[in-house]
Amino acid sequence: MKNVFFAILAILFIATSCQKKEVVVQQEDLVQFINPLVGSDSDYKLSTGNTYPATAVPWGMNFWTPQTGGWSGWLYQYKADHFRGIQQCHQPSPWIGNYASFTILPVTDELKVLEEERQVKFSHDKEISQAHYYKVALENGTSMEVTPTERAAIFNITYAEGKKPYLVLDGNARGNHVKIDTKNNTITGYVSNNNGGVPENFKNYFIFKFDQPFKSYGTWTKDGIKANDAEATNEHCGAYVEFAAGTKLVVAKVASSFISLEQAQLNLSREIGDKNFAQIKDAAQAKWNKELNRIQVKGGTDKEKRNFYTSLYRTMLFPRTLWEVDANNKIVHYSPYNGEVLPGYMYTDNGFWDTFRAVFPFFTVMYRDLNAQIMEGLANTYKESGWLPEWASPGHRSCMIGSNSASLIADSYLRGIRGYDINTLYEAIIKNSNNPGPLASVGRAGAKEYNKLGYVPCDIKINESAARTLEYAYADYCIWKLAIALNRPQEEIDRFKKRAQNYHNLFDKDVKFMRGKKANGEWLENFDEFAWGGVFTEGSSWHYTWSVFQDPQGLIDLMGGQDKFLEKMDAIFSTPAKATWDYYGHKIHEILEMELCGMGQYAHGNQPIQHAIYLYNWAGQPWKAQKWARTTMDKLYAPTPDGLCGDEDNGQTSAWYVFSAMGMYPVCPGSGEYAIGSPVFDEVKLHLENGKTFTIEAANQGAKNIYIKDASLNGTPFTKNYFTYDELMNGGTVKYTMSETPNKERGTKPSDFPYSMSNEK
Ligand code: CA
Repeated sequence: MKNVFFAILAILFIATSCQKKEVVVQQEDLVQFINPLVGSDSDYKLSTGNTYPATAVPWGMNFWTPQTGGWSGWLYQYKADHFRGIQQCHQPSPWIGNYASFTILPVTDELKVLEEERQVKFSHDKEISQAHYYKVALENGTSMEVTPTERAAIFNITYAEGKKPYLVLDGNARGNHVKIDTKNNTITGYVSNNNGGVPENFKNYFIFKFDQPFKSYGTWTKDGIKANDAEATNEHCGAYVEFAAGTKLVVAKVASSFISLEQAQLNLSREIGDKNFAQIKDAAQAKWNKELNRIQVKGGTDKEKRNFYTSLYRTMLFPRTLWEVDANNKIVHYSPYNGEVLPGYMYTDNGFWDTFRAVFPFFTVMYRDLNAQIMEGLANTYKESGWLPEWASPGHRSCMIGSNSASLIADSYLRGIRGYDINTLYEAIIKNSNNPGPLASVGRAGAKEYNKLGYVPCDIKINESAARTLEYAYADYCIWKLAIALNRPQEEIDRFKKRAQNYHNLFDKDVKFMRGKKANGEWLENFDEFAWGGVFTEGSSWHYTWSVFQDPQGLIDLMGGQDKFLEKMDAIFSTPAKATWDYYGHKIHEILEMELCGMGQYAHGNQPIQHAIYLYNWAGQPWKAQKWARTTMDKLYAPTPDGLCGDEDNGQTSAWYVFSAMGMYPVCPGSGEYAIGSPVFDEVKLHLENGKTFTIEAANQGAKNIYIKDASLNGTPFTKNYFTYDELMNGGTVKYTMSETPNKERGTKPSDFPYSMSNEK
């Protein structure tokens, strides 16, 4: 009997451990290495990240940020010394702007409500900014603390003795509603502020529940304060409440919903309920630590560890969760596309032009389940709007270029991630490939001409035509591979294979750069290799010529062979940071950031060239990829408010660091290969969702020992300049020995080079 009992236990144990994919690892408190203030010392003219300190849980529906500026744009600037409140925000970038935001601030003695009037002095030495927790003590003697869940948060607000304790709620313009309920100590309402990309009925419903009764209350608009008024609806309105004299601590529980006030109340009771501040804070910290501990590092400097986990934090904020769980425990979402509440997942706040490069490839490796949900969200977007998103916030926005949704989908499906409707996604991709969309950045502007001529001509009133061509050609590579996997007709497969080579059409062998071409086949006159914009996007030909992710060998051939290619690669770093900007009419901040990088034409502050360093792996000089990757990590990342060298962009510039610090980078998402760089830690362990662990050991690595002397993978000598996805997923160990001098033999044979379409027979 006893034996039978143990046998059953053993079977149960095996059954559970097979289902449970999560790896149980020793948890370290890694949240302490995150500095959310990194990148917040930015303004319109110069970006050191253009971030704000988001206190949230990973991929949370709402972020909470201290507000020093207006409700949208530069919400928080490190250089500011006045504080306007803590804001629930949803802003992916100051350039795209905020939506669905509201702000609260404790005010004492004299009731002031407008943001310029109510603002209070503060200093950073009385501020604690963490991923899961934010606290500030203001000069008026009040303090605020906030800690979040996915869709809710809890505040502690303290007041100094002997001062009238008010709390002001600001609905932040562009249409809102507030309602004060003195019986239940609540303020409810909605805000509909946005910067576009929303249907008519768009609203963010909220509920604040206080643990204290209101001594007095009222509403306000820009025209003044209305005491004893319990309800207001206005273009810009808010509420205020006063607590009893002598009140020291007020606890406010808050939740929101894009669906309804009832759903916001449900979110509040589910996510906060009776829990207290410490419990919510511990849970938020535990959520971050669970994710951060999926990648554990040893060695490296303190700065590198802070850079790494701060980057990991930024990689795990976007895309934003836009789905909620209804009263019947069903996953539903408010559609920012058609305004309906519909079943299934939805994510938003992302520009794929940035994030296809490294953020989504990171999810493909580390977050396959999340990736499947995101894919379902993309299929829902197509069903609800007729198009895939390229820049969503929360609905379609016209920003940037490309057809990069194909990259996300191909990288997911080709790596075996399932659980979503790939046929709908494929249909959407094919529609993109044939049609311009309702906005310039949705669908493919110039699709008909591109499909006919093999490039988007520069003289048909479609801007940034060369950049579009190069990105469409890469997307066509992704479609080609996907079409094979989906057993599509051979003609269709061949068509996309051919189009994936369209980058050839814009390479001018005379000037040895990509350049604009007219509909009649002639080059656009007056070629200027330093000209930003025009036929390119936020960069010049120096930055876009390398956008041949799918076929570096093809690019090498166009340039006249390996030596010529290497000469050009070296010239990126040795050519002065010259730029012309007629297209923009002013020097855009990205140009200034290139100059400040001090790495010649290597403009790491913007996305087009961020993969280029790794191209040395295709040309027999992998040690230069190691050198420049390490130089970029050392020089251009610091765990300080001015620590980044340009817009962070929804995790992309951070994901570059995460991959690079581990010694690899996904140059061509979709190919399933990761080009090798220079690992900055003695050991990195990737705890994968399938239960396996991939370990990267770098013996002897350090500030000077940045070069790979030799390597082994699972005990066998390893000479390749890349890992495959399967090598990572199977778990195992790569062991490097690092040295101060480059090994000019390792990784120099063509058989060691990563994937190029041209090499595929
Ligand atoms: Ca950018």
